[in-house]
Amino acid sequence: MKRLFFILICLTACAPQPLVSMAETPPADGKPKLVIGIVIDQMRYDYLTRYYDDFGQGGFRRLMDQGFVSHNHHYSYAPTFTGPGHASIYTGTTPSTHGIIANDWFDRNTGTVMYCAADSMVTPVGTSNPTAKMSAFRLLSSTLSEELELATQGASKTIGIALKDRSSLLPMGQGGDAAYWFMGGTEGNFVTCSDYMDALPAWVDQFNNSSIKSDLMLQTWNLLLDPSAYNESHADNNPFEGAITGKVSPTFPYNLQELGPQNDNYSILKTVPQGNELTLAFAKWAIENEQMGADDITDLLAISFSANDYVGHRFGVDAMETQDIYLRLDRQLEAFFNYLDEQIGLDQVTIFLTADHGSPHVPSYLEKEQIPGGYWQPGNMIEDVKAMLNEKLGEGEWVLSYFNDQFFLNHDLMRQQDVEVDDVEEMIAALCLEYEGVHTVITAETLKNAEFTRGIYGIIQNGFLAKLSGDVMVVTNPGWITYNRTGTTHGSPFAYDTHVPLIIYGAGVETGQHYDYTRTADIAPTLSAIMKIQMPSGTTGSMISPAIQR
Ligand SMILES: [Zn+2]
Repeated sequence: MKRLFFILICLTACAPQPLVSMAETPPADGKPKLVIGIVIDQMRYDYLTRYYDDFGQGGFRRLMDQGFVSHNHHYSYAPTFTGPGHASIYTGTTPSTHGIIANDWFDRNTGTVMYCAADSMVTPVGTSNPTAKMSAFRLLSSTLSEELELATQGASKTIGIALKDRSSLLPMGQGGDAAYWFMGGTEGNFVTCSDYMDALPAWVDQFNNSSIKSDLMLQTWNLLLDPSAYNESHADNNPFEGAITGKVSPTFPYNLQELGPQNDNYSILKTVPQGNELTLAFAKWAIENEQMGADDITDLLAISFSANDYVGHRFGVDAMETQDIYLRLDRQLEAFFNYLDEQIGLDQVTIFLTADHGSPHVPSYLEKEQIPGGYWQPGNMIEDVKAMLNEKLGEGEWVLSYFNDQFFLNHDLMRQQDVEVDDVEEMIAALCLEYEGVHTVITAETLKNAEFTRGIYGIIQNGFLAKLSGDVMVVTNPGWITYNRTGTTHGSPFAYDTHVPLIIYGAGVETGQHYDYTRTADIAPTLSAIMKIQMPSGTTGSMISPAIQR
């Protein structure tokens, strides 16, 4: 929904100004004034416990010690990617319902690969770059943000902020007030799309024109603490990490001014802790200039920290760089929470913190330690499947695509040739099972005709939408990825990808340590209860009852 009134308190000054101090009494109706969703891209659950001793008192530990912590919180679907993750957190369901089945997927209608946020119909706002034609239009069900707007006749302020477009858009849906994401390259600006507005608010222009981004580009990323504090990680220089372009080794320090030109200029901010700093600076400007949390009508701010994902991909789970970005984020969050306390009063804010997926240890390291893990190259299997189908069914383009470890079959050709799709799916599944690294193969026919409530089949089914998904789903062994031998990736149905933090803190939240299984789809209905609004339209999760203050 577009805002009818913009109250700009900061028309001339570049620096944000504090709001008038607000009384620290909870609103009479018991609803939070501001809900902040924090999604940390690629944060595994065990980063909370692994780095606990190195955290300060006011960041992660403030939430862990004073909030509701679900220690057994999981994604209940695969593929575990960023787009589906953000969509699931805010829609209270899984890709099988909300329709964001991956970051990119093969589209049968066009025969091309679609991106989950790409939208040729929208106009970018704040940039003329055609790569910014993005929206949340592919979501099939409503978001928590949209339900809040519906509950307040559009009087709530709902804003999504992230360096990645999909991570700002999908938490909002098209009915949120705004989603701002970061254009790297030579632009270095936060932008949005015409679903929300025709021109950027003055404060966003001011932020973009301020020296904040260029000041960050003058910084050098070095270790926050003494090297001896990083005993949870490998040595700085090790064979399991990828090096950033312009560096001969994957080692500190990272001089952004020096490395920027070789790493697409401002885009380098997406890959270092300074990107999280930029995200938080923008979030503070949004809070102040949009008066978020200033009245008794609940507002929602969805923040995603994207830089942790880029660091995780490049350096892996056991890198000093990965540990350092979490220690820095801990301090950044502490400063942000203190700021919220001063501005609004933390007792009137509800914060939830989670991740969009986890990641495995670098498989080449697992191999060295003789722990199951490896690298999966599907090339031979795909060729063998095509050859088998040509032999059994006659020459033809039977396979349209193999994408996200799914076979997309040529249904038109099968109809023409009177070939049963189910039979072909079964043939492919039987052949694929013969390959080393393949764990399970599941056909679309199976998923359409039975309901799996648990296990790998259940997880795959929750990520499956017959209209969009492939015909044969290949699941590789635990710890196996299709990637370089340095760094890591994610997407599997296994614990290292599904097990992520969930902490809920503040207004309306019951403190506690919870060890029963909870799912990502439970977050939105739980927050709906705390916010006293209707849950999103496609919700399949449940309220996490012990987290809700009576
Ligand atoms: Zn992600």
